[in-house]
Amino acid sequence: MVFKPTFWLRSVLAIDEDFLRKHKVRALVLDMDNTLSMHGDPAAESGVPEWLDKMRSLGIKMRVVSNNTKRRVAPLAAKLGLPFTANGAKPLTFGINRAVRAMGVPKRYTLVVGDQIFTDVMAGNLAGIRTVLVEPFHLEKTWTFRLKRKAESLVFHRNYDDLEMK
Ligand SMILES: [Mg+2]
Repeated sequence: MVFKPTFWLRSVLAIDEDFLRKHKVRALVLDMDNTLSMHGDPAAESGVPEWLDKMRSLGIKMRVVSNNTKRRVAPLAAKLGLPFTANGAKPLTFGINRAVRAMGVPKRYTLVVGDQIFTDVMAGNLAGIRTVLVEPFHLEKTWTFRLKRKAESLVFHRNYDDLEMK
């Protein structure tokens, strides 16, 4: 199902060595806003830089694919040392496919990670890659975001009893 994530985790920080080994993961396509940082904020959430270092030490390839503009994505991507694709146009797949090619890891060893069903999860599923839905770092209060979350709840019910919390 195109709206259904393969995994549902509290945040990227829950992706650890055991999880990667268990699910044979060698590369991550990462969303940026609310997955690595607060929406539009050029600072990473606490724990994220250390988590990225850990991923690198494990040899995990990573690349950001964001729907945001280059102007918004570039500063934080540079700070975090992550290559990126801006204007990723998720749920279309070309941004993600480009990232997969750039990382040089087959799709079956890759995960698409993000906080939104209609962009991140859908794009990953359409590209034939396993997906991780994470909880957004900060729940947006604007009506467009509330509407989006409401629409998401129609296609994927976030049952918090099932959430793999760490
Ligand atoms: Mg996001």
